[in-house]
Amino acid sequence: MPNMRNKAPNLYKLGQDGLRYDDGYPDIEDISRHLRFESATGSVWQNDQKVMVFPVSIYESLRIKLIESLGLDDARKMYTSEGYEMGQIDAVRSQKLRGKNLHSFIAAGPQLLALKGIGMVDPLAFKVDIEGGIINIEAEAIGSVEADAFINNYGVGDAPACWFIAGHASGFFSWIMGKPVLFREVECRAMGHSRCRLIGKPLDEYDNVEKDAKYINHPDFLRHIPNRTKRRKLQKPPAKYNLASTDTDNSKQTPGASPGFKVVMQKVKKVAKTNATVLFIGRTGVGKEFFSQTLHSLSNRSKKAIITVNCAAIPDNLLESELFGVERGAYTGATESRPGRFERANGGTLFLDEIASLTLPAQGKLLRILQEGEVERLGGTSTIKVDVRVIAATNVDLRDEVDNRRFREDLFYRLNVFPIHIPPLRSRLEDIPLLMTEFLKKYSSRHNKSAAGFTEEAVEALLSYPWPGNIRELENMIERSVILVEDDELIHTNHLFTSGEHLPENIFSVDRQGKLSSSSFHNINWDELAHRALEIEESTPLLNFENALIKVAVDKSAGNISSAAATLGMTRGQLDYRLKKDK
Ligand SMILES: [Zn+2]
Repeated sequence: MPNMRNKAPNLYKLGQDGLRYDDGYPDIEDISRHLRFESATGSVWQNDQKVMVFPVSIYESLRIKLIESLGLDDARKMYTSEGYEMGQIDAVRSQKLRGKNLHSFIAAGPQLLALKGIGMVDPLAFKVDIEGGIINIEAEAIGSVEADAFINNYGVGDAPACWFIAGHASGFFSWIMGKPVLFREVECRAMGHSRCRLIGKPLDEYDNVEKDAKYINHPDFLRHIPNRTKRRKLQKPPAKYNLASTDTDNSKQTPGASPGFKVVMQKVKKVAKTNATVLFIGRTGVGKEFFSQTLHSLSNRSKKAIITVNCAAIPDNLLESELFGVERGAYTGATESRPGRFERANGGTLFLDEIASLTLPAQGKLLRILQEGEVERLGGTSTIKVDVRVIAATNVDLRDEVDNRRFREDLFYRLNVFPIHIPPLRSRLEDIPLLMTEFLKKYSSRHNKSAAGFTEEAVEALLSYPWPGNIRELENMIERSVILVEDDELIHTNHLFTSGEHLPENIFSVDRQGKLSSSSFHNINWDELAHRALEIEESTPLLNFENALIKVAVDKSAGNISSAAATLGMTRGQLDYRLKKDK
């Protein structure tokens, strides 16, 4: 068993600033190639350690049963201390594999964690100086299955859920530094935060470490607890956890199944019945309008209208008259009085998208409406009472806008009463299949087409694409593919990625030797392939190569000619012709 006092040797002299992480992560191949699948004995190995591959759903239900039988606190202790042990084991392994370079040695910790499928830890701020005993890390845990498990079963709670991850980081860096290092999760998706954020520093730089030390349950940590009780009392699991209410209403179908989606929906349902101003924060295309509509339809105002204004789409000089209305003669061309969108939304909801685009004068007027509930039309002399619930959305950080004096601070606080972060699509993978089905249905009917569905390769590509344009990009891509595909044929990668989208390359699959290797379904080196063909045979007629390719494609699609044609980038007709000609 590795011991943290086996301090890792100082391999590099570090600068004043300590070690920097600017280079990003090294290639994972040196670690991943140590993952072996032995089908004859039914075992999977990561280096010298036997591991198991089983569905996250099983992991989740085991975890929930454990929480329910042990109680939240003892379950947390179990996972944290197991994570700590694993972190120490991984530190030893990392040193063996990458001991010569401190940067990649340290990077192996999160990479080994990622290979277990638990999540990825990405540094946000990083300073490590082993000799000087300095460690100060801020990191984000991406895709944590621990947070997902909690959210899927309990919704949003009031304590962080990434126990194993925090324990793993603590164990890993304690071994490296040769002294207790504590990683504490300060934000967690399971608490409704937009991300899981951890900070890591030496244990003695924290206050109130009793609980943390109890969770890690390692002698070097427990020593730091003053007057700790010697004997552990037997605890009964609490009958009820202090959790936010979870919603079991599944009657209304919503296009989302991911934990990220569920958290947003839970917040939307919670705030809908109140009159609170809501601020949606998320990148372009994440579905802010969908959630606003849903919020309105669940509110007591649902019988009245929701009026949507995209503040960025209306020219500056028209925005104020659009929002607040105008009296006849207010300016040249104002030939008649008309109400603004605030008045039209009276009794209902006004959704202000891209709120950061509002000019400063318009911000001032909006603030007054929110404070007084009164609108004054442009050129008007009296005020009009309005009862409007405001939902705003932004894809930029409004705090930055406030700092740069582009957004009024007082208005920011008015709007930020109930902020809801909407995560990007790439962290909501479970939503993709549902959205695919929905968009396929929608555009098949709109364009009067009947695609047969998606090939497996297309599904894999859609699940691994990073979606910089989020749901809107997915929707556009599926609409395009529906137009391109022939009736009754499957949608293939070629129908989807037609605008030069860059597919990620770090997808792994098990090769014939049972080893994990980079899958290259989209990135074939044709030159190399041609060279090899010519090396094997002195003469390789082009036709032989073509025929072989066609045969493999037909075999692979189990005789389905449409699907084989799609694989080859041909139409069904073209392939039919080739097959008949060769007979
Ligand atoms: Zn978390």
